[in-house]
Amino acid sequence: MLYTVNIDHKYLNIGGEAMKEKIRKSNEEWRTELPEDVFHLTREKGTEPPFSGKYYYHKEKGVYVCTSCGSALFSSTDKYDSGSGWPSFVSPIEEDALDQASDDSYGMNRVEVRCNSCDAHLGHVFEDGPQPTGLRYCINSGVLDFKKE
Ligand code: FE
Repeated sequence: MLYTVNIDHKYLNIGGEAMKEKIRKSNEEWRTELPEDVFHLTREKGTEPPFSGKYYYHKEKGVYVCTSCGSALFSSTDKYDSGSGWPSFVSPIEEDALDQASDDSYGMNRVEVRCNSCDAHLGHVFEDGPQPTGLRYCINSGVLDFKKE
């Protein structure tokens, strides 16, 4: 008997690897290409001080992209005011835009989020966001560039 299976290609993985071409560079290469503060945030898992980043109060319509590689990460339509001091989103722009990893630094148990294309550290995701996702992607402004719609 034949079965018809509908597969949403956006979520299709082959051999466990997402079909997304990864950008691989050494820390030395990133250090020469990125401004020092961006290097620290993205490659040394830095955190900018709350309420200090350029996109916390930013409300224009458009797309937030990775400063390191230009990949689209978040849409302004998913941004909300969390009161946290960091740009906050209820979801990434696409399911496969981000990668996640557990982060046990500073005695906390958090989930780190990275750019799925270049592995830049972006921030963390918490389960205290508003509906519909209940998630709060808490992201450093310094790892983002903004493309106005
Ligand atoms: Fe990237």
